[in-house]
Amino acid sequence: MSEKNRSENIIELVNIRKEFDDNVALKNLNLNVRRNEFLTLLGPSGCGKTTTLRMIAGFEQPTSGQILCNGKCINDVPPYLRPLNTVFQRYALFPHMSIYENIAFGLRLKKKPESYIKERVSAMLNLVNLNGFEKRSIESLSGGQQQRIAIARALVNEPEVLLLDEPLGALDLKMRQGMQMELKDMQRRLGITFIYVTHDQEEALTMSDTIVLINEGEIQQMGTPEDIYNEPKNAFVADFIGESNIIDGTMVKDFVVHFSGATFSCVDSGFGEDNPVEVVVRPEDVQLVEKEKGQINGVVQSVVFLGVHYEMHVLCDHGTDWLVHSTVMSPVGSEVGICVTPENIHIMEKSRKAVAVDVGGADDASEVEA
Ligand code: ATP
Repeated sequence: MSEKNRSENIIELVNIRKEFDDNVALKNLNLNVRRNEFLTLLGPSGCGKTTTLRMIAGFEQPTSGQILCNGKCINDVPPYLRPLNTVFQRYALFPHMSIYENIAFGLRLKKKPESYIKERVSAMLNLVNLNGFEKRSIESLSGGQQQRIAIARALVNEPEVLLLDEPLGALDLKMRQGMQMELKDMQRRLGITFIYVTHDQEEALTMSDTIVLINEGEIQQMGTPEDIYNEPKNAFVADFIGESNIIDGTMVKDFVVHFSGATFSCVDSGFGEDNPVEVVVRPEDVQLVEKEKGQINGVVQSVVFLGVHYEMHVLCDHGTDWLVHSTVMSPVGSEVGICVTPENIHIMEKSRKAVAVDVGGADDASEVEA
């Protein structure tokens, strides 16, 4: 590995496969985590997020492949010798110990002097905004406060990487949102790498530098929140991250796509000519205008007010149902025009299964992947 890579990536997963008996949890995972980034593993339940995190922590062994830390393979390094600490959803605090002793625990194992321990515990309580809580018992704390202690207890060991497995999952919405901001702020101030697991796309979009979206043991897309939201690579990503209109279309040629009964200009190229594609348009990017003044016409089928905007379903003449978010309401039954600007039209390859069928009925999608 080059010297450049060594300094950039703190953790690397190389061709990781993980099987549990007959169940393949991860297929062939390749992932680089850059030093000091906030990287989130995101995906639906059972997709393999926790398994990935547990392998990085050393609680699980990969079936094959390598895990590198600072450029060195750590497959055989036990968890307590890895420069990492984990924060779990269930805080795993010691109920019979005071908060001071809970946070001090890792330092006592390392036989640090009491004066050092005192100073570090106080610094950690300050970091998680719980100054003066040293003597309190664990059961006297709220869920959010307990989670902060769990974070303080992990950070006191000065790990190079903090692994967080759905750490806010047990908190109510308001507390979760507050803690999201605090965690992000903490990560910035400390300048350490966070690898965070969640199934909550909003949480991932709010906090991450990089999102790794996983489904069925495979990475679907990796990128900044903006990349993943604005340029979904496939229908799974578009569907998982926010709401989307996903419409079958035909790429006529570079920068021209036909869908929903009309031909649109777009900003994408490289999809060939007259090829089937999927077109993604976010509901907030659909503009409703007067009938005949848009690119297609439709009739409003339903309207729901969602606090900040209206959500409307518009059935277009061609039969496509469009989801529209707008601060301006068009009543049910009204005839409207639909406008979408070229930069708001995102072209994706048709999902692999569908392409496999289209090109001649091959039932193994991987045959046409190349
Ligand atoms: P969740 O959000 O529900 O925690 P996840 O994305 O973290 O899901 P994993 O816990 O990594 O998913 O599980 C991935 C797959 O591996 C699942 O099919 C799960 O049943 C399986 N699995 C995980 N741990 C084990 C185990 N110890 N033994 C057998 N199968 C396991």
